[in-house]
Amino acid sequence: MSHRTPFPPADTATILAQLHASYGWQDVLSLNEELADGAESADGIIEECAKFATGVLEDLNGSMDAVGAKVVDGRVKTVPGHKDAWDQLAEGGWIALGHPAQYGGHEVPLSVWAAMQALMDRSCMAMMLPALMISASKLIHAWAEQDIKEEWLPKIAAGEWGATICLSEPDAGSDLGAIRTKAVKDENGDWRISGEKIWITYGDHDLTDRIGHCVLARDPDLPQGSAGLSLFLVPTKLEGEPDRNGVFTRRVEDKMGLKGSPTCAIGFENAKGFLMGQPGRGLSQMFVMITNMRLAVAIHGLGLASGATDTAWEYAAERRQGGKPGSPVPIIQHADVKRMLLDMRGRTEALRALIFAQANVVDIAAHTKDAEQKAEAEALASWLLPIVKTAGGEAAFDVSSIGVQVLGGAGYTKEWPIEQNVRDARVLPVFEGTTGMQALDLVHRRVLKGDGEGLRAFLRVAREAAAASPVEEARNLSAALDLLEDGAARMRELSPADANAGATEFLSLAIATAQGWVAARLTVADIEGETGEKLKEAARFVLSNVERLSRFHLDGALMGAARLGATA
Ligand SMILES: Cc1cc2nc3c(=O)[nH]c(=O)nc-3n(C[C@H](O)[C@H](O)[C@H](O)COP(=O)(O)OP(=O)(O)OC[C@H]3O[C@@H](n4cnc5c(N)ncnc54)[C@H](O)[C@@H]3O)c2cc1C
Repeated sequence: MSHRTPFPPADTATILAQLHASYGWQDVLSLNEELADGAESADGIIEECAKFATGVLEDLNGSMDAVGAKVVDGRVKTVPGHKDAWDQLAEGGWIALGHPAQYGGHEVPLSVWAAMQALMDRSCMAMMLPALMISASKLIHAWAEQDIKEEWLPKIAAGEWGATICLSEPDAGSDLGAIRTKAVKDENGDWRISGEKIWITYGDHDLTDRIGHCVLARDPDLPQGSAGLSLFLVPTKLEGEPDRNGVFTRRVEDKMGLKGSPTCAIGFENAKGFLMGQPGRGLSQMFVMITNMRLAVAIHGLGLASGATDTAWEYAAERRQGGKPGSPVPIIQHADVKRMLLDMRGRTEALRALIFAQANVVDIAAHTKDAEQKAEAEALASWLLPIVKTAGGEAAFDVSSIGVQVLGGAGYTKEWPIEQNVRDARVLPVFEGTTGMQALDLVHRRVLKGDGEGLRAFLRVAREAAAASPVEEARNLSAALDLLEDGAARMRELSPADANAGATEFLSLAIATAQGWVAARLTVADIEGETGEKLKEAARFVLSNVERLSRFHLDGALMGAARLGATA
């Protein structure tokens, strides 16, 4: 591979300042001793992680992209250096971070795990397997029998065994009710799984001895649709048995980006599976994993967006064009370039603050003993999840693309890492539920149905932040929050077809106001020096846009279905 300029070192001072100022952080510190201890080591973890990511993962990022994972003799072979980096991740304890201490993990607040994972993703998003593994670990912890937990959780935390989420099939993408993979009991009472799954991230690889596939499969004795789905752990290998457990690699996809992350078609041929939880409850139980994976999508997005943002700011301070003849000026001095740079930083830092806020409220909801605080945290976490997932996925692509624009022709070449970011980022609004599906989820489950508590919880905290902010631009947030409240009421009056037609625009309105909320919080955060100034400048930029963007998206949300012709 030709020489590639590395990303600038990650700005750990900003990450730590944001973490300490994040919504809910102070409450997380008082939840229990384990989390408080984990929080105490956060600063050291983040500093060390930044060094590890730059030193070990960054070179691999380019070679993963250039070479890609391949199938050799029916098994996936990862790119040279991948296994070595994996072993270093495991030995350094990075995979164990956030896993339960009882099973060999190192417990830390979810926001500390998020900060660590984003640093890894910034250097090499294709090394995304640990995010899958921690999500699978939460699923197994929640639903598996005790013997399975004891067998699998320590191995996953140690990085010795891998894990996947196995949902998609050729006829079942967004519509998981169409899953056909079958689960039947054999004469010994064991579950046997047969079917074809596609697009399975790290569905096969040579990094670990064994892989545990978390599979949704259909019990033919149960009703059709999602009520017939049960959840299974299907290992690639069973203890004491020499052969593979009826799990076969059909192919690895040739993709636009993330080439080092093997996306596999996997065949199950009478493979032994272990039921987790209740028969027929598979899809709802799977949401333990899906919820964490959606947060992980936002974190992957933050990693990519932050790398692009820092690269663009550094480049713009060096590159000289324009100005007086014979004395060109750094392009950062041009208004249009400064606009792009502030847009990049504003979106990136708002995303960081939103991810930390979401992680904190998830921790509070899981651990608080105060019923009122729990209800409030659950409502807010539920409102924010589709917002954070989508904001992260879209920011990764948009911010990286603006980064190419700041670098001009250089940004389009492989001499700089941003063009890879654009390609790697594009999948984030697609997997773990497309943007369209997140929008329907927000509108149908959180606005049209239910008691509206999620929206009310959000409006409460966001209005508080707007009122507390001393900056002129915060008035835009107050206006935008009125538009959101009014927009939600008007969505409830629409026909289902009109609401569906406006759902994605409504989600964009919700994202704009959520970014405004965390930006307003940053304008009053007690963050000193250059870091504080940088964050406040970015926050004011976000706030300067929030009302006009909200108005634009609200208009789109209410346009109705008629202009689209016949729709389902
Ligand atoms: C790199 C990569 C890795 C992946 N990893 C995994 C994995 O590890 N495990 C796994 O199980 N899957 C994985 N997937 C699959 C991924 O989750 C699906 O691609 C995604 O859920 C969308 O499904 P689909 O591709 O079938 O698109 P479709 O469902 O066909 O959707 C296509 C378009 O139609 C829209 N649409 C579909 N239904 C509706 C509806 N009812 N209303 C409105 N709009 C609708 C969608 O929003 C989208 O824009 C991965 C995919 C990729 C590309």
